[in-house]
Amino acid sequence: MTDVIDGDAIAGEIRDELEGAVQRLRDEGVAPTLATVLMSPDPASETYVSMKQRDCEELGIETRDVELPLDSPAGDLYATVEELNDGDGVHGILVQMPVPDHVDDREVIERIDPAKDVDGFHPENVGRLVAGNPRFEPCTPHGVQKLLDAAGVDTEGADVTIVGRSDIVGKPLANLLLDKGPGGNATVTVCHSRTEDLTAKTREADVVVAAAGVPELVDGSMLSEGVVVIDVGVNQVDADTEKGYELVGDVEFESASEKASAITPVPGGVGPMTRAMLLHNTVKAASEQSGVDVELP
Ligand code: NDP
Repeated sequence: MTDVIDGDAIAGEIRDELEGAVQRLRDEGVAPTLATVLMSPDPASETYVSMKQRDCEELGIETRDVELPLDSPAGDLYATVEELNDGDGVHGILVQMPVPDHVDDREVIERIDPAKDVDGFHPENVGRLVAGNPRFEPCTPHGVQKLLDAAGVDTEGADVTIVGRSDIVGKPLANLLLDKGPGGNATVTVCHSRTEDLTAKTREADVVVAAAGVPELVDGSMLSEGVVVIDVGVNQVDADTEKGYELVGDVEFESASEKASAITPVPGGVGPMTRAMLLHNTVKAASEQSGVDVELP
């Protein structure tokens, strides 16, 4: 029997636990607030930002919504970020990526106050993560770690193969799983497009995390019996549907399910966890900046 890991349900439990923390902050006169900044050429970005805002509002987190025209000079975006850094009532800042080509995304990230960098992408926060003393764990890798925990997967001593070495998923996830302590202590292999014999690496793993952005890259023939499979990928592929496309992961679900003891679906696996962990980081930011202690899931 393959266990299909229900990311929606696990994310819902995290949101429920965060409700108490938000209430405690509000009782102490602190209204946790996330600012979102949108200047993105990707049409999907607007939807992502409004989903994040809706998630916040449902939990009692305030939002500030800043939108800049796509042809604004890079300096306008930097100035927006700096104003939000100085804004007393703003605890978290999220600049939706990607930004247009004429803006250097690294420079934008470096201008965010690290204490408000709820995505966890600022070099100071990346450094803290690598040093084993994270301030904000990046949302998707943290969500994967929580998902494994909630599904009862013990990472201690487990061989984990991550397919993908991006700065937002593969690398930070490798750090989290390598760390000493609960949810860590794994032996981690990180693969990428130059990896020779990917199948050998995925077959030797107890846990495979696919984060390559390649539709259905990992199939059942690449997996061992009993493996746990976490599919981070979200890919739009042409399909005979009303919208003309469908979303598929980086794992071929059917054949992988025949081998896996547990597997995440797409959608409904990692995606909702990413959203829940943004709420987590925003509440954490509000707690740290206000000095009001809260219990976090
Ligand atoms: P990137 O494109 O930044 O990174 C992809 C990584 O996969 C790279 O390291 C690349 O290698 C590697 N890769 C590509 N093709 C292969 C291959 N054939 N074999 C082995 N490795 C390969 O993607 P992201 O990390 O940003 O995202 C990955 C996927 O996860 C995407 O589908 C994205 O939409 C999804 N995603 C989902 C989220 C969620 O909340 N569910 C959040 C974030 C992302 P190289 O470095 O050599 O180029």
